[in-house]
Amino acid sequence: MPSDTIQSARRVIAQHPAKRDDIGDLVTRRPLPGLGLDQLDPFLFLNHHGPQVYPANNRGLPFGPHPHRGFETVTFILAGSLAHADSAKHQSVINAGGVQWMTAGSGIVHAEISPPEFLRDGGPLEILQLWVNLPSRLKMSEPRYVGLQQQSIPAIALPGGGELNLIAGQWQGSVGPIETLTGVFMSTLALPAGAREQLPVAPGRQVFLYVVEGEVTVGGEPAKPHHLIEVDREGNSVEIEANSDARLVFGHGEVIDEPVYSHGPFVMTTREEIIQAVEDYQNGKFGGLTL
Ligand code: MN
Repeated sequence: MPSDTIQSARRVIAQHPAKRDDIGDLVTRRPLPGLGLDQLDPFLFLNHHGPQVYPANNRGLPFGPHPHRGFETVTFILAGSLAHADSAKHQSVINAGGVQWMTAGSGIVHAEISPPEFLRDGGPLEILQLWVNLPSRLKMSEPRYVGLQQQSIPAIALPGGGELNLIAGQWQGSVGPIETLTGVFMSTLALPAGAREQLPVAPGRQVFLYVVEGEVTVGGEPAKPHHLIEVDREGNSVEIEANSDARLVFGHGEVIDEPVYSHGPFVMTTREEIIQAVEDYQNGKFGGLTL
């Protein structure tokens, strides 16, 4: 066997627990950024909303029109539904099992709210939002939005009994529906108790691994739900074993290795670029959004 095909498992460096930080009645946990962890370059931020059940006649999600510049938001709808509208005229309602991938790029105003049926009927809700940084040369890219329902996301059976939902990047013969600017790989995993999987990752790439639900073992170390599992960049695979039924987000990307200046919804490379972003937004250069 040629040496480059030998599997060497990534080692766990740290496990970062999510901090509880509810937004009104929206249950929210945030593992990233965390204590002593500014980012996991290129991954900047993760909010885990729910799981919870909304009553009938609720007010829904609190994310009315607000701007972004300089990065991408990836929103996983695990339960419930999410309506997106933005200043670039994209609009969609995505249901459970779907994903929204938005490149804020040079600037966009969007709203992420609950559709009318959810406000009226309520129901279960669980949503993850991940922020992926863009390198300096791509921060002013044209804004883009893709909303995918579950049926547009390939579900791939894994050899150890699990299932991988391929959102972006390549998995053996399959290609995920999102074409990313930076070659990010992104997937969700559903592992039944007892499943054991070896997931390939090219050495050097940063792994993003978050345990949504269930007890797993990563690289031989027990990991708990609501933890972001940081692994080293050396090996060429991540070994995961499910000790109970488990769901995870599994992605990886190229390390950008540039300064990060962030101010609320803007993530840039320099302080001057942040000042410019605030000024451009205030001058209406991101366009407007009326709901
Ligand atoms: Mn937003």
